[in-house]
Amino acid sequence: MQDAQGRKTLLLHGAILANFDLGSRNRKEKEPSFSFDATIHPKTKEIDMDKALERFLKYVRIDTQSDENSPTIPSAEKELNLSREILKDLEELGIHGEIDRFGRLYAHLDGEEGLDPIGLNSHVDTALEISGANVKPRIVPNYDGGTIVLNEAYSMSPKEFPSLARHIGDDLVVTDGTTLLGGDDKAGDAIILAAMDYLVHHPEIKHHPVCLLFTPDEEIGRGSEKVDLKKWGAKYAYTVDGSCYTDIEVETFNAAHADILIQGVSVHPGDAKGKMVNASSLACEFDALVPERIRPQYTEGREGFNHLVEISGNVDKASLHYILRNHDLEKLAEQKEMFRLAAETLKAKYPKAVISLSIKDDYRNMKEILDRHPEAFLKAKAAYEKLGIAWTSHPIRGGTDGATFSFLGVPCPNIGTGAYNYHGRYEYLSVGEFNKMIQIVVEILKA
Ligand SMILES: [Zn+2]
Repeated sequence: MQDAQGRKTLLLHGAILANFDLGSRNRKEKEPSFSFDATIHPKTKEIDMDKALERFLKYVRIDTQSDENSPTIPSAEKELNLSREILKDLEELGIHGEIDRFGRLYAHLDGEEGLDPIGLNSHVDTALEISGANVKPRIVPNYDGGTIVLNEAYSMSPKEFPSLARHIGDDLVVTDGTTLLGGDDKAGDAIILAAMDYLVHHPEIKHHPVCLLFTPDEEIGRGSEKVDLKKWGAKYAYTVDGSCYTDIEVETFNAAHADILIQGVSVHPGDAKGKMVNASSLACEFDALVPERIRPQYTEGREGFNHLVEISGNVDKASLHYILRNHDLEKLAEQKEMFRLAAETLKAKYPKAVISLSIKDDYRNMKEILDRHPEAFLKAKAAYEKLGIAWTSHPIRGGTDGATFSFLGVPCPNIGTGAYNYHGRYEYLSVGEFNKMIQIVVEILKA
């Protein structure tokens, strides 16, 4: 019985693996091929770009790293130092706001009656991979396309970072190589502030009511938690948390995670014949059943992946933790099925082991919602077209808080900031793109 079952499972498993596609046949997304147009850079007469950049440089100097090991909300008290600074800057503009007990900052700017209230969201915290304390931003004026020396140990050039080649003639803000920059997402914070500054100083411009939301803890996946959508008040919204200024992002991964626990049979190795079932060896065997080519390091564009995040074990017990990602929900279901088959295969082969598999969903591709409620996308698209900017759209290989907001009833694409190389010392801001984003946000908000 067990043998027969085992063979059937193995066969099934082989058939699934052979037919597994995961989107590789999909059209490859092309990198946007454009160079920055120096004629639209750096200053638009009416928007105070110097003040906008000044605000950005002020924000990045505030250490706001969130803390995934903290149970508090927000996870780190220091995140609020920036929220308070933003609130102060808003109040200077006459925009009233409040930071609630969960550290969410809400603020509203009145607009034309009868128009949909538009939401803008950015986050105040920075990533965990590298320190965000003592950030010393430096401006590289009129970038010449060559190597930028960050410090004695680190430098960057278009060879390793091809996006740099698009910014020749532009001013860049870079790090001193010891920290991240915090363009993610303080560029978003500063863009939103600059857009508000402009609208407040130009009362003749008719615009939508604006609902602002600045969140802590985005980098640890808790940014959308505790958000009071009623208090926010947006009909649809934008996260200002992307990179390239031409990108209107409407597609995220569908996400799930899988945990495999293996209970083996531990006996003295000298006396193990026919008795020992080594849980760690089974863990390795399980991972070997997950096809090599659908791992993160071999995938791009719309190709999904299974990623072994953690493996641990001894003879007695072992565990594996995977994240599963795909833009296509049906393909994600196939990936889950593959994990079930791998577990069944091992169970059949090692009846003395106890193998348990648990698969849980994390977030879903917001495209599903944005296709049904396209207002936010169409409004952004119209703004780009009005400004004569060719927009692009690439699937995000990750999730956004906008995906969560979308499923909660506030459709929420992601737009750019002009900051690149997130979460590391090579992070930089294109001042030209940052300025362009301020114009784009203003245009989106116009009546
Ligand atoms: Zn971000």
